[in-house]
Amino acid sequence: MTHALITGGAGFIGSHLSEYLLKQGQTVTIIDNLSTGSFENIAHLQSNPNFHYVIEDIRNAQVVDRLMSTCDIVYHMAAMVGVHKIISEPINTIEVNIGGTEVILQTARRYRRKVMLASTSEVYGKGIKVPFEEDDDRVVGATTRNRWAYATSKAVDEFLALAYYTEAELPVVIFRLFNTVGPRQSGQYGMVVPRFVKWALNDDPVNVYGTGNQTRCFGNVFDVIQAIVKLSDTPEAVGQVFNIGSNEEVSIHQLAQRIIQRANSDSEINFIPYDEAYEAGFEDFQRRVPGIAKIKDVIGWSPSTGLDET
Ligand code: UDP
Repeated sequence: MTHALITGGAGFIGSHLSEYLLKQGQTVTIIDNLSTGSFENIAHLQSNPNFHYVIEDIRNAQVVDRLMSTCDIVYHMAAMVGVHKIISEPINTIEVNIGGTEVILQTARRYRRKVMLASTSEVYGKGIKVPFEEDDDRVVGATTRNRWAYATSKAVDEFLALAYYTEAELPVVIFRLFNTVGPRQSGQYGMVVPRFVKWALNDDPVNVYGTGNQTRCFGNVFDVIQAIVKLSDTPEAVGQVFNIGSNEEVSIHQLAQRIIQRANSDSEINFIPYDEAYEAGFEDFQRRVPGIAKIKDVIGWSPSTGLDET
């Protein structure tokens, strides 16, 4: 029976992954410092004898060593996330993302464990290509803009994981998550869909940043989990990078309108300049669409849930 260690297992995606692997009959141990995750996300798993949790920071190398010694595979999902949070906590963003990943990879090397590394579409930066393919160039902005510290910290994670693969023959798989949505996602740290849903349900104004013409593709978390688990079962995926996301593109203005309509809400839409919403000089991406030909080719996965259903 496989024993999976999930860092960030009390987070939005990590908790769904925990649930999915437990349903498959695996043993699951999570480590989470509850910085953006929450105990509520995992409370219902507590009664399962195959589920174990440790509330601790992943930079605690001793604890990670103990947990890694008894697991077979690690899903490294723990990271600083949420645009509002990464703008307001730049030190943590860099130190958790880089320092934490360093601990995970060093320990995995010691025990020869497979590492499934969660990365992000942010690493493509402000490139304008549609869609983004895994080997595309990265285009990131100045060091004076906090958003790029996040993109760069996750890019360093990818470099480090690939370095462990090539130099130490550590089996690693990197997956870049595009916008992902579903139950349990909190809007507290910036994610747009739960924010809009909450405002719409309360008939409060829905705040669209910028012109609202910027687009995103929102993948359903249950689809995303299937892709991650299938990648972990595919030997050919080792040493490679994969995009995971939906290719159904929607503008943020349209998203607001669709959510208001589906919530039967009387909310109005407010347009707020980026400088006011985030910080002076904030840079957003106009379009962000994942190229998903590679993952389809290697594991036969493509998203199956549309945005309205999600
Ligand atoms: N956004 C918005 N209102 C909000 C939060 C976000 O209009 O309350 C916009 C944000 O500026 C971006 C898009 O929605 O253009 C997606 O934002 P999110 O933070 O969810 O993810 P991102 O794709 O920027 O990482």
